[in-house]
Amino acid sequence: MKTKIAVANGDGIGPEIMKAVLRVFEANNVPLEYEFVEMGKSYFDAGHSTGMTTAAKETIENLGILFKGPMETPKGKGVKSINVTARKVWNTYANQRDFRTLKGVETVFSKAGIPINLTIIRENIEDTYGGIEHLLTYDVAVGRRIITRPGSAQVIRYAFEMAKRKGYTKLACAHKANIMKLTDGLFLETFLEIAKEYPEIQSSDIIVDDLCMKLVTQPQNFQAIVLTNLQGDIVSDLCAGLVGGLGFAPSANIGDNISIFEAVHGTAPDITGKGIANPTALMLSGILMLRYMGFTENAATIENALLYTLEQGVHTGDFGDKLKPSVDTSGFADAVISNLGMIPADGGVVAQANMQLKANAHHHTLTKNKLTVTKGIKEEMVGVDVFVEAGNLQPAELAALAKKRLTDNFDVVMISNRGTQVWPTGSIFTELVNEYRVRFEKKAGKEVSQKELLHIAAAFSEDVKVCSVEFLMKFGGKIGYTLAQGQ
Ligand code: NAD
Repeated sequence: MKTKIAVANGDGIGPEIMKAVLRVFEANNVPLEYEFVEMGKSYFDAGHSTGMTTAAKETIENLGILFKGPMETPKGKGVKSINVTARKVWNTYANQRDFRTLKGVETVFSKAGIPINLTIIRENIEDTYGGIEHLLTYDVAVGRRIITRPGSAQVIRYAFEMAKRKGYTKLACAHKANIMKLTDGLFLETFLEIAKEYPEIQSSDIIVDDLCMKLVTQPQNFQAIVLTNLQGDIVSDLCAGLVGGLGFAPSANIGDNISIFEAVHGTAPDITGKGIANPTALMLSGILMLRYMGFTENAATIENALLYTLEQGVHTGDFGDKLKPSVDTSGFADAVISNLGMIPADGGVVAQANMQLKANAHHHTLTKNKLTVTKGIKEEMVGVDVFVEAGNLQPAELAALAKKRLTDNFDVVMISNRGTQVWPTGSIFTELVNEYRVRFEKKAGKEVSQKELLHIAAAFSEDVKVCSVEFLMKFGGKIGYTLAQGQ
């Protein structure tokens, strides 16, 4: 009985490497059947704004697993990346990337005899990847960074479960909560909370810049690291560099209903059509997929054949011993096929049940979008930040205009520019741009409504251009906004 999955060849080198990987699967009698779906650049060009046909979307939602080649996002047409859209629309909240030293792939660490075997779990939906950006003035662009409690909990729980299944003893949370106190702070707080449920895993947290330094000086000290989306993206590529480059970096985008498996690298336009691309990363991604689906025997056999092939010095042109002739994409697949059943010198991997990742809980009975809300938290509205474009006004002049709009309930407590306080105190050396934040806070003992706060902003708009407003909230008595630098 074969299981059906959706396959998208992708653009550029995608079809070449996908063909190579599926040939290896076939040679090992992997019990999969493939439904090829239409998605990628040519479908954007043909007028499908999402880069895929309706039939492709339905097939993927039906089958729950997508194995895909890299896809190109047309530049400068205002379209969003199909790769990012697919991950977000189908809520593949955990991006797992495994990095390890491969025999036959020489790096500074392999030469120094330092083994690397680590997994990055990157949050895949939120953060700046919401792509919510606005030009507030001609000179000032802002982007919204969205970090949520349910989203963080989902990926962090996955990271702990993955660490447990892989037999890891350690999981680190990397963040920048020292600077981004509410966004990264929420991610870290969620990590520390969930860590209590996994006492068998040694959990720790590390500031992301410190992590980067330690990854390049002592990568052997890390087993698994969970991060927010953008930081995870950057750290993943750093890790790819540690083990020999993007040609060796597999990736799984895991969701509760739909999961996507793909290589980390792109479409490699410079070598497209030459038949010389390295299929290793896509093959490793396919191995992750087999393991995820429970085909652990096939996963182990193919992985061992691949490791044995690399160990033998078989290589495509992008890596390996330049004194040994390279093979092309199809020659590399031939070598892996002929090595099926071989075991690499270090003993290879075995098809342990505990290596199986979370089983796909895919089902067809969803009728509503899942919505998660934390209830029972006391909320209080305490003020509003009004972001304004104020022409050539100096901070004190702007403060005078703001005060004109006060009622008995409020005070103007602070004005900042690019996050630095410039009124009531500040430095003459702080350089300004044409977008200020003016903070109105309710006076002690007063109650204010959202309508009143909006009214202040509306009244203020008679003097200056209001660009946006953010309400100042307290949750459970704790302030839900940051202070300005220097405040
Ligand atoms: P790239 O990864 O395609 O190429 C970077 C370099 O690595 C090139 O020199 C390329 O030849 C080489 N390379 C990449 N994969 C290789 C392989 N398997 N074998 C041998 N060499 C390989 O990155 P790029 O040039 O920045 O991006 C090209 C396109 O790919 C862009 O349109 C981008 O949007 C897209 N992209 C897609 C994905 C995805 O589908 N998940 C990921 C990254 C980039």
